[in-house]
Amino acid sequence: MATKRVQKSAEHDKSPKINTAPTFNKHYEIIDSEIVFEFGGPWGVTAMMIGFPVLMYYLWGCLHFYRGKLVSPLDGQLWSQIFKGAYPTWYATKIYVLFCLFELFLAYFMPGPIVKGAPVSSLKGKKLDYLCNGVASWYATIVTSFVLHYYGWFRLTEIIDNFGPLMSAAVISGFVVTLVIYVTTIMQGKQYRMSGYLMYDLFMGAALNPRLGRVDLKMFAEIRIPWVLLFYISVSAAIKEYELFGYISSSMAFMVLAHFLYVNACAKGEECIPTTWDMTYEKFGFMLIFWNLAGVPFTYCYATIYLHNNSIDNNQPIQHSQFWTYFCYALLLSGYYIWDTANSQKNRFRMIINGCYIPRYTFPQLPWGTLKNPTYIKTKYGSPLLTGGWWGIARKIHYTADLMMAFSWGFITGFNTAITYFYPVFFVAVLTHRVYRDMERCAKKYGKDWEEY
Ligand code: NDP
Repeated sequence: MATKRVQKSAEHDKSPKINTAPTFNKHYEIIDSEIVFEFGGPWGVTAMMIGFPVLMYYLWGCLHFYRGKLVSPLDGQLWSQIFKGAYPTWYATKIYVLFCLFELFLAYFMPGPIVKGAPVSSLKGKKLDYLCNGVASWYATIVTSFVLHYYGWFRLTEIIDNFGPLMSAAVISGFVVTLVIYVTTIMQGKQYRMSGYLMYDLFMGAALNPRLGRVDLKMFAEIRIPWVLLFYISVSAAIKEYELFGYISSSMAFMVLAHFLYVNACAKGEECIPTTWDMTYEKFGFMLIFWNLAGVPFTYCYATIYLHNNSIDNNQPIQHSQFWTYFCYALLLSGYYIWDTANSQKNRFRMIINGCYIPRYTFPQLPWGTLKNPTYIKTKYGSPLLTGGWWGIARKIHYTADLMMAFSWGFITGFNTAITYFYPVFFVAVLTHRVYRDMERCAKKYGKDWEEY
């Protein structure tokens, strides 16, 4: 019955028109400025701020020293091994900081289109400009790393050889950047939606859109550091494998491809990001800072680390049956196709509606990435809701596709350790929580239209 009503309404509004997005209104402002305690409130987030880094060290310790076996976290020997293996050396800190500064330099100076974000309620509906030079920066990073490696100025294998100390440099940076952003925001009086609980505000953040000149720091941190680093961890392990065994196994090549697809997608579709919820609603606190600077690159890579350690321990890379290898590749690539096109269908639809769509020819542009004359529902309080393309099939199909990819990253390692399934399992929890938050928020924002949708 509900589907029928949606179809009917969608039929009614078949052709998207430029600039039909609702203007900013009081309803938005009230919803976006509302303080909602999430993640168990101040106590819950304090536990997470301590628990996340501890968990990262524990899982890495088990992978690195115990072949992925989950040893007792109370084992003193484990922690002394972790302490020695992940001590934050100056060398690793220099690599990490120089990498971040290089990416910041590219984000500032490389060419790219300027895209308007969605109306920001804390700025009374103002739309901010975002310089989307992700593609140019990504290609510049690839060329630079190739030159550095080829001439021996910085061999990429140093990344996997210094994984522990690099992770510590990232963890420390996550805390330092959180504090610096928080304090400078308060000093400038730019804090927004504050709860009054220090730990909660540190976790969720004080600043909504902190900027360094023309670089939006939140968008920079979300896409320019985590995924690029993750990719280079896999590249580093693949080169190491080649140096040790004279070839790159299909499993390691899989991880390089998987991480390449993710980082490339973030760069090539960057112009879709300014209008997303993360940019307009989420603040730039520990949750986003720590997770992007340290959490994503140093936990989403467990499959790569496992494959790398395993090949060294067994003196040969893991070999799966042909069937299993093809299955993993098929799962990854089909997941990627749905994920890429579903995200671009929705984001481009919104950009067209907002009058800020710019066609891009970045690689790869997949068939069905942009919908022509899609069906949608007009809403009273928000932007129109797309009901065509993938969005006519399921409400969060891009999450399902992302999970298909996440599970394929685990499957390629086999079933000898649970740690390589950390990312898919954790990701199920993250996405479930995001769905819950988003549904609640959209139900408030769109009211009856959301029910209809
Ligand atoms: P969504 O892309 O689902 O964005 C949700 C927002 O989209 C809603 O608040 C609403 O915004 C708008 N919206 C929802 N349905 C429709 C519709 N039918 N038509 C038009 N607009 C709609 O959320 P995320 O930002 O969470 O995810 C983006 C991508 O990033 C996903 O593919 C996800 O898998 C990925 N991701 C990956 C993570 C990782 O760690 N690997 C972490 C988080 C996300 P509004 O209120 O403005 O209308």
